[in-house]
Amino acid sequence: MPREPRFDPLFEPIRIGPVTAPTRFYQVPHCTGMGFALPETLAAMRSVKAEGGWGTVSTEYCSIDPSADDLPSPYATIWDQGDVRNLAKMAHGVHQHGALAAIELWHGGFRSSNLLSRVTPMGPMSQMAGKAPVQSRRMDLADIRDYRRAHKAAALRAKEAGFDIVYVYAAHGYLIAQFLNRAQNQRDDAYGGSLENRARILLELLDETKEAVGDTCAVAVRIELDDEVAPGSDPTGEKIALFEMIKDLPDLFDVTISDYGQEMGVSRFHAQGSLEPFLKDVRARVKKPVLSVGRYTAPESMLSLIKSGTLDLIGAARPSIADPFLPKKIAEGRMDDIRECIGCNICYASNIQGVPLRCTQNPTMGEEWRRGWHPEIVTRAATPEKMLVVGAGPAGLEAALTLGRQGHEVMLAEAARDLGGRVLAEAQLPGLREWIRVRDYRAHQLSKLGNVEIFRESRMNAADVREIGAAHVFTATGSHWHKNGIGRTHSAVVPSFADARTLSPDEIMAGTRPSGPIVIFDDEGYIMASALAELLAKEGLDVTYVATAGLVSAWSFYTNEQHLAQARLIESGVKIVVSHAVTALMSGSAELACVFTGRKHEIACNGFVPVTSREPNDELWRSLCADPESNTSAGIKSITRIGDCKAPAFIATAVHDGHRAARELAGETIFRRDRALVS
Ligand code: ADP
Ligand code: SF4
Repeated sequence: MPREPRFDPLFEPIRIGPVTAPTRFYQVPHCTGMGFALPETLAAMRSVKAEGGWGTVSTEYCSIDPSADDLPSPYATIWDQGDVRNLAKMAHGVHQHGALAAIELWHGGFRSSNLLSRVTPMGPMSQMAGKAPVQSRRMDLADIRDYRRAHKAAALRAKEAGFDIVYVYAAHGYLIAQFLNRAQNQRDDAYGGSLENRARILLELLDETKEAVGDTCAVAVRIELDDEVAPGSDPTGEKIALFEMIKDLPDLFDVTISDYGQEMGVSRFHAQGSLEPFLKDVRARVKKPVLSVGRYTAPESMLSLIKSGTLDLIGAARPSIADPFLPKKIAEGRMDDIRECIGCNICYASNIQGVPLRCTQNPTMGEEWRRGWHPEIVTRAATPEKMLVVGAGPAGLEAALTLGRQGHEVMLAEAARDLGGRVLAEAQLPGLREWIRVRDYRAHQLSKLGNVEIFRESRMNAADVREIGAAHVFTATGSHWHKNGIGRTHSAVVPSFADARTLSPDEIMAGTRPSGPIVIFDDEGYIMASALAELLAKEGLDVTYVATAGLVSAWSFYTNEQHLAQARLIESGVKIVVSHAVTALMSGSAELACVFTGRKHEIACNGFVPVTSREPNDELWRSLCADPESNTSAGIKSITRIGDCKAPAFIATAVHDGHRAARELAGETIFRRDRALVS
């Protein structure tokens, strides 16, 4: 299908200094968990984005030299010729698809503790460094000169590696932003005090980078529109003044805000386009192209930002992760094929944990090189076979879709009337509405395949499965929450939890409500317990949230929402008790024990919701496996359990598992390791 002409503005080339971006789709720098250690993985992932139509594809934050080291968080490096060689592979891959390659030169200042390099961290002042109990050293004038020299040398290496756009990164609390920050920068020399002095380093770097590489490379600045001291505002008017000072210097303005938690906010707490109030007049203030992000997945929103003159380029990190082919789908008039990001930040969590990027919506993300997976292409089966997938949650839907695309004859049986499994229920929780996109994308894609038949309200037992006579069976029957206490804290059943007051998260999500004071016990640490607490508190119930961890939804630190979850419970009037486990239900109360001292106390409890662990619904799989002869007689060649019925985990895990099962059945079993090999 041809593209609708009204979307033409998104596909108009735009001049950025000495280079031209072929379209307005701009993949901004984003973390990958790959960094310098996994160059093949990184190059393959970035070039798939270019193949999918992103007109510009950027690196993640890329350290200029060993004085900027962020391990254990993976980051890119352009320290030496080895890095030039590795990053040249990425730039080349991106160029092969006609896109521009951008590199974000980075120095963390006092925010990097240099655990790998053991170079003393440095910043405008001596301040607490990284997350360690150590401090940075105050940069003297020689340090500033060395830093400028290192930045210029890195820019030259970036040019040598083939990059078209070189960033001066003046945001997100890193070194340049530390100099700009009027509270943090208390220097009394030419680099502190007045705005002119604090901005000096930025102006010098912009000049020097242009001078070094500006003949062939565009120079971009990534900069905040608000004040880091008073996020969300510009009380002193400094930002306006700063933009006035630099408006002619860079070739491109990549504008953002100081609250990183909002810039890449989860959909639970931040809507799409949350930066828009800040963008109003920025384009009028500068004379160069402007781009920004907003987790835009809808072509209409992107178009209106370009047409209204708000932005020149649509920046995207997560939408490009969830769908590397988003621009191409718009170009081909296939808008309904866009796989929209759900705003869960599982991608970000991978990076924080130091492992390659993964995505709830896109199971191929991070697997482009090591498994050879393409987000849009699967190998067609030479001999189509009859496949049965039981259960239409994330795992079953993804398996059925991938098998269907391979050309098999697929039957998808689901016990319920609606497809979606756990996301049907979870998307009803406060703030999680967008999670239903996991179901919607797959259900819609399945509806386009003539070789997939869906059977709703069809609970299958082993006899039913054998009767179908499929060659391969996939059980994707999910899991259910325990009510017996078994989890991280209690490895055995807690007898007193067998009480009429105990309700599982499944029962609460299905609409059952306890009365009186409710105790929610979070022994899991992700978002289920805090979301249920918020839900019940909003209904006017008296809720106490008890967690074994020291924070509300402690694991959601990785998805950058822990602080928001805790704030939301405080604001919702939920009582919070951390570092305690619920050890027993007593008459009218719950017994809590301190996780450190074991000291016990009781709180009133009329309703109890343990969020501890889940039990796989694997009865069907076990009963099928118990009688292999009957399976053989029924023509069944393989039975594979996938998703939560194998091991309850994230939705992303279930989607990946369903995808992998289908690929592996087709013999796609490679798993390459990306690592340096000694010569
Ligand atoms: P996952 O995350 O692994 O996809 P879900 O719990 O989201 O798991 O989905 C499991 C789905 O399987 C649910 O929609 C459930 O109704 C369905 N299901 C469970 N048992 C059966 C069965 N025996 N026959 C058909 N569908 C089933
Ligand atoms: Fe979006 Fe979640 Fe995928 Fe990240 S992991 S790109 S937030 S769907």
